[in-house]
Amino acid sequence: MQQKQMSDQTDQQRHYLESNWFAVIEDEVRLMGSKCQHCGKVSFPVKPFCPSCYEETQENVPLSRTGTLHTFALSVMGPKDMEKPYVIGFIDLPEGIKLYSVITECEPWDKRLKIGMPMRMLIAPIKKDGSGNTLIGYKFAPCEEEEAV
Ligand SMILES: [Zn+2]
Repeated sequence: MQQKQMSDQTDQQRHYLESNWFAVIEDEVRLMGSKCQHCGKVSFPVKPFCPSCYEETQENVPLSRTGTLHTFALSVMGPKDMEKPYVIGFIDLPEGIKLYSVITECEPWDKRLKIGMPMRMLIAPIKKDGSGNTLIGYKFAPCEEEEAV
């Protein structure tokens, strides 16, 4: 049986940055949104009503794990538990959601990032809380590019 990321932990043992942002679906931790059953708008985080048409009939849906880079910036300041500098940005998901995220697997200075490039979501440890628990959240990394030679 193939071992999946974080499969050694039960859901009760995991600590999330925001517990209502995530759900386990088919053994995988997914970032969740709400889909309006009236107009189809998907929003994040999960909401009790649609921010577009105000209907309350919402279905929780897992969000796409890939998107495109909308914009990004280098942050040289930030929370003391974040290694600095780091890259932050907005990712456009196919659902029409713009997600604010830390961007990883790229050095801030290597000029790898390009607006519009494909990005993939990682659900991974982000930082520790005051009790030393590792908090799981989401971040994005550039998709591996198949360079044309
Ligand atoms: Zn709606």
